[in-house]
Amino acid sequence: MYYPEPIAKLIDSFTRLPGIGPKTAARLAFHVLKMKEDDVIDFAKALVSVKRNLHFCSVCCNITDTDPCRICQDKTRDRSVICVVQESKDLVAMERTKEFQGMYHVLQGAISPIEGIGPDQIRIAELLNRLGDEQVQELILATNPNIEGEATAMYLSRLIKPFGIRITRIAHGLPVGGDLEYADEVTLSKALEGRRELR
Ligand SMILES: [Zn+2]
Repeated sequence: MYYPEPIAKLIDSFTRLPGIGPKTAARLAFHVLKMKEDDVIDFAKALVSVKRNLHFCSVCCNITDTDPCRICQDKTRDRSVICVVQESKDLVAMERTKEFQGMYHVLQGAISPIEGIGPDQIRIAELLNRLGDEQVQELILATNPNIEGEATAMYLSRLIKPFGIRITRIAHGLPVGGDLEYADEVTLSKALEGRRELR
C-alpha cells in the first residue's frame, strides 16, 4: 500500500508496539489524523515524558520520577531489611500487601543463561554497594519461584554470605513457575511471613 510518508511512518511506529498488527496500526494512525491538534500534542508529550522523566533510583534501582525514589526517601521505613525483587511491578505487588515496611532492591531482571543474561546485566553491583551500610541486617530474596528466579537467589546468597548478613528466601506458598506480580496479597503476605534462612 502506498501511504504518504508521514502516515506510513506513524503506522510503522504503531506496529512496533506489542499486540499491534499492521491493520490496527493503520486504523490508529488514521484516527490520529482526525484528532484535534492539541490532543495529538498532549499524546506525543506523554510518550516523550515517560522516557525522559522516569529514571532508575540511584539507591534501589526502581523506576522513579524523583531521585532517590519515594520509598528510599521515606524515613519511617525499616532500613535494616532489604527485599530483593526482579522487576518494578514485583515491588508494587509487595507494597499492595502492606505487610512489608523495609526497603527494596529491584534487580531489573534475573540471571538467565538461556537468554544470555548474566549477573553483570542485572543490578547486582548496586545491591552489593548498599551492603557496606552497617544498618542492613537482613536480605529477603523475593525473586520469582521459577528457574531464573531460583538461580538468581542461589547466586546472590553465595555472593552475599561473606557479608555476614541474614539471608532469607520467601516461602513457597507461591505457585511454582509463577510470577510474583500475579500472586494475590494473602499468598504473598504468607510467603513473606514464612520466609526461611538460606544456608
Ligand atoms: Zn529507591
